[in-house]
Amino acid sequence: NEEPGQKIVEGAFADCGLQPRSVHLDAEALRGAEGASPFSWDIEGKRNVVAGWPAGGSGGRSLILNGHVDVVPPAAEEVWTHPPFRAVREGDWIYGRGAGDMKAGLAAMSGAVRALERSGYAPAADVQLQSVVEEECTGHGALQCLLDGARADACVITEPHPDHLTVAQVGVLWFHVDLAGIPAHAARASYLGFNAIDAAVEVLAALRRHEAQLNENPPPPYDAFEHPINLNPGVISGGDWPSTVAAACTLSCRIGLYPGQDPEEARAGIEAAIAEAVAASPRLAENQPHVRYDGFSCEGSVVGEGEPLVQTLSGAYEKLHGERLPALATTATTDARHFVRRGIPAVCFGPRGERIHGIDERVSLRSVVESAQVLG
Ligand code: ZN
Repeated sequence: NEEPGQKIVEGAFADCGLQPRSVHLDAEALRGAEGASPFSWDIEGKRNVVAGWPAGGSGGRSLILNGHVDVVPPAAEEVWTHPPFRAVREGDWIYGRGAGDMKAGLAAMSGAVRALERSGYAPAADVQLQSVVEEECTGHGALQCLLDGARADACVITEPHPDHLTVAQVGVLWFHVDLAGIPAHAARASYLGFNAIDAAVEVLAALRRHEAQLNENPPPPYDAFEHPINLNPGVISGGDWPSTVAAACTLSCRIGLYPGQDPEEARAGIEAAIAEAVAASPRLAENQPHVRYDGFSCEGSVVGEGEPLVQTLSGAYEKLHGERLPALATTATTDARHFVRRGIPAVCFGPRGERIHGIDERVSLRSVVESAQVLG
């Protein structure tokens, strides 16, 4: 449901004195594109909003400023202090799902361009603003912009990464394990039937062992992290009655990949871990788990710290804050990989968001202005 957000962004881009246009998602083109992830849902009618700020001179380096308009669900709406979709302000903070991740980043990049344009400046090479959809599940909004022909010497994604530049990120794989059970009356469960929820617990235990192995010897720069690769069982659904042995269960997970690791290799690792669980359990062997891939299936990416993009952005930050911006790695993924794959160095830098994907997500308003100043 990104469209109401895209309408607002469209207005903000127009307010920069630019002419926004739509880049519609094309399911067929995306499915055939390098770097695409599998997806089973309907993307009909989804669009990115882009706006070019043409060069008014020459000799500069072109730039893409990218942000995503989609958000994740509120996780547990009832425990939020303020309703997650009200954008309540308290002092310097705005609370709401997506406030930090990453409406604030879209505001910062629009604000930077608007301020410069109104002050009579023009860039020395083309600048393109992009507000993309689908970042939280496949990154296909950003990918569609690239299929549309977007190119630049560099890209800044204004994700909520304050006081550092994110130059390395993991890949991400989403996988879904469908488990079949044999329903029976719960009163006879000790000798009748096979519980699909118990089967999911066995499979998850094997996946946790696999996760532990992946974290044993992390390659640099991930050796700086205690536990860089996180397996997250994010959704589990199964069974239909407390007194019936569960007939079906689906376990949906996310796992990270080190940069350089192929998503195919990550899939093989998951399948091998599940095969181990099957080998250890005759009942699981009789009711074979089935793995499906739907959503993120993407590699990690790294940008060299010597890139002009990294040096220039760090220098701009130093002008405002008096210190250089450290370059760091993240154990999350962003749309950066799509640009890096096409030879466009992409880093993340943006406002101070807190508790993203959590409860009471918030963003500092002052940091939105400061991010815009650094970008400008
Ligand atoms: Zn984000």
